[in-house]
Amino acid sequence: MTTPTDATFWGPDFTALQDQDPEIAAVVTGELDRLRTGLQLIASENFTSPAVLAALGSTLSNKYAEGYPGRRYYGGCQEVDKAEEIGIARAKELFAAEHANLQPHSGANANLAAYAAFCAPGDTVLAMSLPHGGHLTHGSKVNFSGKWFRTVSYGVRSDTELIDHDEVRDLAREHRPKMIICGATAYPRLIDFATFRAIADEVGAVLMVDAAHFIGLVAGQAIPSPVPYADVVTFTTHKVLRGPRGGMVVCRAEHAKRIDKAVFPFSQGGPLMHAVAAKAVALRECQQPSFQAYARQVVTNAQALADGLAADGMRPVSGGTDTHLALIDLRGLDVTGAQAEQRCDAALITLNKNAVPFDPQPPMTASGIRVGTPAVTTQGMTEVDMKEVAALIGRAVRGQDPPADVAAAVDALVSRHPAYPRG
Ligand SMILES: *Cc1c(COP(=O)(O)O)cnc(C)c1O
Repeated sequence: MTTPTDATFWGPDFTALQDQDPEIAAVVTGELDRLRTGLQLIASENFTSPAVLAALGSTLSNKYAEGYPGRRYYGGCQEVDKAEEIGIARAKELFAAEHANLQPHSGANANLAAYAAFCAPGDTVLAMSLPHGGHLTHGSKVNFSGKWFRTVSYGVRSDTELIDHDEVRDLAREHRPKMIICGATAYPRLIDFATFRAIADEVGAVLMVDAAHFIGLVAGQAIPSPVPYADVVTFTTHKVLRGPRGGMVVCRAEHAKRIDKAVFPFSQGGPLMHAVAAKAVALRECQQPSFQAYARQVVTNAQALADGLAADGMRPVSGGTDTHLALIDLRGLDVTGAQAEQRCDAALITLNKNAVPFDPQPPMTASGIRVGTPAVTTQGMTEVDMKEVAALIGRAVRGQDPPADVAAAVDALVSRHPAYPRG
């Protein structure tokens, strides 16, 4: 049977929640309203499909399935085994990868597993510095990566604002890292995986690509894949990829065992099988030609948005973008990132303040903002709309128009392209 016998136990139907817990039901509907109302420009967010949400809201959440398909520590795994096997097969096909692990609960967990698979505490790891666009898990002192490993950081060049490969090579030769990480949270340009591979080979390091941000563009064939170059690729499934919140690892067959052991039992217990199933659903969506068109449009939109902001006096770091996000330096307008974030919020534009390279401001103030197009592209906006979005951001950031006027214009734009359209 493919249809549940009693639909009240299943599905994105809020009746039971509304009846039994009106407080939380109000949060759920309130959040849906919030998503529908403003412009969602946070580069790491997206709108998942009803099919993904249905898998997430299913009774697969109940199942303990420690282990891997066919080798579980619990009985009754025959159905969830199928979900994980289907998901693994889809991931391997989509990314042309030799091995895939769908169990990491998040991107940070996927990264913890990669460190655990290849490094011992105290080993040296070379990764991008946080203020230049790297991630907490790339060696921040408040994170396991910075506490348990000796991390050395590379950054971008001050003239081009592009990754400084000479610095990467020099640091690799000097420090002989066990692992080199590339991939970032706030870097708008393509990463030269071949050069990183050559540097890793020269010093005998493992190459880990943290593709959390851009893996959806890889899945949609809009940008080159890191998979042929990396020993291991970690990523989140909820950013451009448009799946459930979670993480994933793909790697070469020779590393399969150590990666699987590093995820379970080293760093996690039971997998979230509803999330694993939802990842499988998202991977199938990524295999469709429509997702390739989506990924290309995400990049076109980000470029149009960056161009529009540049024309309005807001400088894109590195001059533009090749991906789904742009980092915008607001020093030309004499507005800080924190002020801009707050002013945009008041105008129903959701984005985040962000440090720019060599930022003189502390991180909580920051000189820039980060904008991304995954969500607005999912709701059907194109480069024509991005011109308008750029103008609206400009009005909000300058703070001369009443926020309510900008918000009204945002509302008019968004209602032409509703997120989660009503019936
Ligand atoms: C988002 C992100 C992560 C972490 O993902 P979480 O699911 O929030 O733990 C890791 N690395 C990079 C580069 C990211 O952008």
